[in-house]
Amino acid sequence: AVAARDITKTFTTGGTQVPVLHGVSLEARPGEMVAVMGASGSGKSTLLYCLAGLERPDAGEVVVNGRNLAECSRADLARMRRGEVGFVFQAYNLVPTLTAFENVCLPHLLRHEKADVAVVEGVLESVGLAHRRDARPPSMSGGEQQRVALARVLAQQPSTIFADEPTGALDSRSSELVLGHLGRLAHRDDACVVVVTHDPTVAASCDRILFMRDGLLVDELRPTSTEQVARALAGITSRRGEC
Ligand code: ATP
Ligand code: MG
Repeated sequence: AVAARDITKTFTTGGTQVPVLHGVSLEARPGEMVAVMGASGSGKSTLLYCLAGLERPDAGEVVVNGRNLAECSRADLARMRRGEVGFVFQAYNLVPTLTAFENVCLPHLLRHEKADVAVVEGVLESVGLAHRRDARPPSMSGGEQQRVALARVLAQQPSTIFADEPTGALDSRSSELVLGHLGRLAHRDDACVVVVTHDPTVAASCDRILFMRDGLLVDELRPTSTEQVARALAGITSRRGEC
């Protein structure tokens, strides 16, 4: 489970303050897949980073699986991220010199553990990449790299998953496959999944959608159709800058 209470975040670049999150509160329960939507620059990735402990909010509280992240040491956070918490990055963050198989094993290697070859091959197969096992990222398409990044998270069998645009580089069939995986993790394995997406089809398959505008959560929706989500998103993004 993930809970945020009134989190704020301001970046300082070259002496200029860039306020990005203005007091965001949310909750995502085990068994639930929650989408976060909003215009580019509205703070979605920053919010996800704060929820995952990759950024520290300036104020407010983030509690993941009952633990307040502010009270966790860097080592605790690193350990969480390599096990119970999975993060699928917007930029895939693969190691270019390692093969797909080795990239999936990386979290285990970082923990000085041996990855289970059958599990790793199983997840590569499940994302449709069994035949690309020994390929390295520079020779893979964006969609293939994104699926390796997903496989790496799936191999950890995390109970909490944050995914930043996990279908951004995928065609609709691969996108369905990725969503199927995340949905099963949430609904069958009782994981808590938070997905940032621009795609109304992806968001429509989630249990709940949170809409962000200019660093605030401004609306919430239980989706019923892709068209309904597209309309709601258009409403949110067109009102941008009014307040
Ligand atoms: P997109 O849909 O394009 O991925 P987003 O909603 O994920 O956008 P963020 O990446 O969270 O948006 O960025 C929100 C704002 O914060 C932007 O104005 C961005 O330039 C700024 N920002 C993000 N990270 C940093 C940083 N490390 N330092 C300074 N500014 C940052
Ligand atoms: Mg982003």
